[in-house]
Amino acid sequence: MTDPSSIGLARPLEPDTPDPARAAALLEAMPMAAALFLRTGMLYAVNTLGREWFVVDTRAPLTSQSWSVVLLPLGLAGSALLAAVAAGDAPVTQSVPLSREGRIVDVRAVPFDGELLLLTATDVTGRDEQRAVSARVDRELSALLSLSPFSVRITDVAGRIVQANAIADLEHASRPPTTVREVWERDAPHDIVNNRPLSFLDSPAMRALSGNVVQRQLLEVRRLGTNRVIEAFASPIRNEQHHVTGVVLLDRDVTDRERLAQQLHEREAREAELQEQVTHEREHLDRLVEERSRALIASQEDRLRERRLTAVGQLAAGVMHDVNNALNPIMAAAYLLRHHAESPDAVRDYANRIQKAAEIAAATASRVGRFIRQEPVHAGGDEALDLSVLAEEVLDLTEPMRMRRSSESGEIQIVRQFAPQASTRGLPGDIRAALLNLVQNAVDAMPEGGTLTMRTFEEGTDTCLAIRDTGVGMSADVRERAFEPFFTTKGFRGSGLGLAEVYGIARRHRGTAIISSVPGRGTEVTLRLPRAMESAPSRAVPNAMRETVSPQHILLVEDHDDGREFLRRILLSDGHSVDAVATCADARAQLTSNAATPYDLMLTDVGLPDGSGWDLVRHVRRHLPDVRVGVITGWEPTGDPGESHGAEFVLRKPLRAAELQAHIAGRSAPASTIE
Ligand code: ADP
Ligand code: MG
Repeated sequence: MTDPSSIGLARPLEPDTPDPARAAALLEAMPMAAALFLRTGMLYAVNTLGREWFVVDTRAPLTSQSWSVVLLPLGLAGSALLAAVAAGDAPVTQSVPLSREGRIVDVRAVPFDGELLLLTATDVTGRDEQRAVSARVDRELSALLSLSPFSVRITDVAGRIVQANAIADLEHASRPPTTVREVWERDAPHDIVNNRPLSFLDSPAMRALSGNVVQRQLLEVRRLGTNRVIEAFASPIRNEQHHVTGVVLLDRDVTDRERLAQQLHEREAREAELQEQVTHEREHLDRLVEERSRALIASQEDRLRERRLTAVGQLAAGVMHDVNNALNPIMAAAYLLRHHAESPDAVRDYANRIQKAAEIAAATASRVGRFIRQEPVHAGGDEALDLSVLAEEVLDLTEPMRMRRSSESGEIQIVRQFAPQASTRGLPGDIRAALLNLVQNAVDAMPEGGTLTMRTFEEGTDTCLAIRDTGVGMSADVRERAFEPFFTTKGFRGSGLGLAEVYGIARRHRGTAIISSVPGRGTEVTLRLPRAMESAPSRAVPNAMRETVSPQHILLVEDHDDGREFLRRILLSDGHSVDAVATCADARAQLTSNAATPYDLMLTDVGLPDGSGWDLVRHVRRHLPDVRVGVITGWEPTGDPGESHGAEFVLRKPLRAAELQAHIAGRSAPASTIE
C-alpha cells in the first residue's frame, strides 16, 4: 500500500473549496471508501478506507493522465466513471468486479462542490447472500408463528408491533393494534386473583421491556364481547451488546381450562364438605347409638335387678310355703305326742311323722343351699328308693291338708295303685318334695272335690309315679308354661315354683316329668325315673333305730347350745362317753388334758366363735393321728374328699341319728356321698 503522505495532493482552485485536511476529515466520517478529486483528475483528499481501495499509481504522473492516477484496484473502470461524471455532471454508479479476490464493489461518482468529484466504493460481495439468508429466516419465522397455538407479537424497543401471527390478529375484531399499549387498552385486563384492573406498567410487555422474562401471568380480559381468561408470557429480545431491542409476547385463551379447573376445584370442595358432613353425621349416629345402648343396658340391668328381686321374693315365698307345710305335721305330732305319751305305738308313729316332715324341711333347706351355691346333686349321693313307699308317705303327710279341704269344700277320694316294687335311686327328700307339690296341685285343681289317683309302675327301663286328678285341667297354653319358674294361675296364693321344682328334681335324677291334661276333665303328671336293678330297702320303717355300737370316748365341739345338748344326749343314749365344748380353745385344752386317755372320735361344728372347725380337724390330724374326726356343718358345701382336711366324714345339718350312728360305727359311705 502506498504511503498517503507520498501522494502529492492538489491545491483547490477556488477559494470556498474546503482545504484538503478538512475534506479528509469529512471523508473519514463516511462508512465506505471515499475520495475527492479535482475535475482535472488530481486527487484532492482520501479517507483511511479509500487509501485501501483507491491506490494511487505512483508510477504514473498525476498531471499526464489525470484519471488513471486513481486506484489500481478499480483500474480503468474507476477512471472512466470519474470522466463520465466530469463530463455529464450527473451521479454515475457501477458495480465493478475487482480483479483480485473475486469481490464486487459498488462504485459511485458524484459531482461535488463545482470543482470536485466524490468517488465512493462499497464492498457488496456478501450483501445478496445476506439478503437471501435474512429472507429465509423471515419465512421460517412466519411459518413457525403460523403454527404456534399462541398468539405471538414481536415489538421493537418502543413497543411497536413489528410482527404478529394470524391468531394474534384474530383476537381483535377491528384493525389489528399497532402497539402493545393499544392491545392492553382493548383487553382492559384484570388481575384474576384480586379481580383488580391492572396498570400497564405491570403488563407482561412492559416487564419484558424492562428486561424480565415473564413465565406465566394469568389475566382476565375482555375480548370480542366476552370475559376470557388468558395466560401470557413475555421475553425481551437483546442485541449483541445485550441491550433490549424489543420483546416477544405470547398469550393464549385458557378460559375453558380454567373453568374446568375451577369446576373441579369447586366439586372437590363440595365433596370435601359432603365428606365432612357424612363424617359428622356418622359420629352423631355413633354417639346416638352409644347413648341408646347405654340406656338400653341400664334399663335391662334395672329389669334384671327387678326380676332378681322378684325371683328372690318368690323363692323365699316358696321356701316359706314348703317349710310351713313341713312344720304343720311336726307341730300337730308334737301336740299329739304330749296327749298319747303313754302309748308306745302312738309315740313311735308320731316320732316317725315328725322325722319325715323334718326331712322335707331339711330337703327344702338343702335345695335352697344348692340353689345359692349353684351346686348339682352329687352323682352317687343318692340311695335306693321305692317310689311306692315314698308315695305312701306323702299321702300320709298330706292327709291333714286333704281332710281340711274335704270338710271345707268337696270330698277328695284317694285311689292307690301301687306296684309291689318301684325301685329307683335318688334323694328321698327331693322326691318327697316333688310328690308333695304334685299332690298339692291336684288338691288345688279340685275345689269341688274329686278323685286323686296315685299309681306306681315300671315301664321299660323306667320306674314311674303318676298322680291324676279329676280337676279343672289345663288349657294348652297353661300346660305349655306350667314348668316355667314363677308361672302361676293362682295369683298371690301360688308361687309358680312347684312344677318347676318337680321338673328340676326329675332332671337331677336323670329322669323327666310329663303332663297330660284335658280342660274340665283333669290332669295327670307322671314322674319317670331310671329303674334301679337292686331292690330298695323294705318298705317297713326301720324298727331298730338304734345301732349297736361299742361305746366310744367322744369330744363334741358345737357352739349352738341346744344343738350341742341334743347331740350329747343322743350320743349318751347310745352308750358313749361325751365331753362337750363350745369353742376351739376349749377343744384344744380338752385334747391336751386327755392325752393320757385319748378320744376315739372328735365331732366338730365348722363355724365356731373363735375359729374354724377345719383348723381343729387339721390340728388333730397332725398331732393325734389315732383320733377319728367327723364334721357337722350347717352351711358349707361338703366339697370333695380332698377338701375335708382329713375328716373321716362330713354330715350336713339337720342330722339324722341313724346316719350319725352309722358313721360312728364306721359303716357308712364316704364323706363326699353325704347329702
Ligand atoms: P303354683 O301351684 O304355685 O301355681 P306350679 O308350678 O305348681 O305353681 O303350677 C303352675 C300352674 O300350673 C298352676 O298355677 C296351674 O295353673 C297349673 N297346674 C299345675 N298343676 C295342675 C293341675 N293338677 N291341674 C290343673 N292345673 C295345674
Ligand atoms: Mg303348685
